[in-house]
Amino acid sequence: MRKVSCEIIKDMLPLYYDSVCSDDSKRMVEEHLSECNNCKVEFKKIQDEIHIPEKSIIENRTDSNVIKNISTSWKRLRLKSFIKGGIITALLIGIIILGYVGLFKWEINSVSTDVVEIRDISEMEDGKIVYYADINDGYSLNTIKYDMDSEGNFYMTPLRPLIKKEAQPPYGLEKGYDFIDIKVQEEFRGKEIKRIYYGTPKDKILIWEKGMVLPKASEEVEKYFGLE
Ligand SMILES: [Zn+2]
Repeated sequence: MRKVSCEIIKDMLPLYYDSVCSDDSKRMVEEHLSECNNCKVEFKKIQDEIHIPEKSIIENRTDSNVIKNISTSWKRLRLKSFIKGGIITALLIGIIILGYVGLFKWEINSVSTDVVEIRDISEMEDGKIVYYADINDGYSLNTIKYDMDSEGNFYMTPLRPLIKKEAQPPYGLEKGYDFIDIKVQEEFRGKEIKRIYYGTPKDKILIWEKGMVLPKASEEVEKYFGLE
């Protein structure tokens, strides 16, 4: 005996499926379904219809996760390659700077004495030894390295980078007077200076040695270096 018509139940099935009907309606639907095959089939349809979209929702969600993952890993990749690019750029800049400094600034080549003329060696009133160095190969000189061995040989070594710069007036160390303060150097090194050379131990010009009497420096030179 059916208390409610199939039409009413069919109307109610979606609500029942969603569990949004009252307990009474629920009981009524369940009672009917237990007796009516037609409505059972109808209910099965609803379940199937609704399940399919759910499945595809899950699939969609998975897809969007995949997209999210792709976009995250792409972002990560982009960040990685950005960092990589930055590191490579920094390295290249470093290499360029090192190369530039290495070739143009790093003073490692000693100037051959073949192109050096030392003249006007004299002694100032305060004991400093003055000389005029003329480097005549046309390139500039900015560095003279001081060095002393255990025998009291003092070397003033003119050094240039691998790539030389042309000498331009006003000239510096390549054409001009320079002095060496023996007292200061001896104090600094704690050793007596016996000989002073311009150049290297293998390629040198003697400027002064102990016992050598040098002419007095000219007034011009005294004025040049004497200003304190
Ligand atoms: Zn029915």
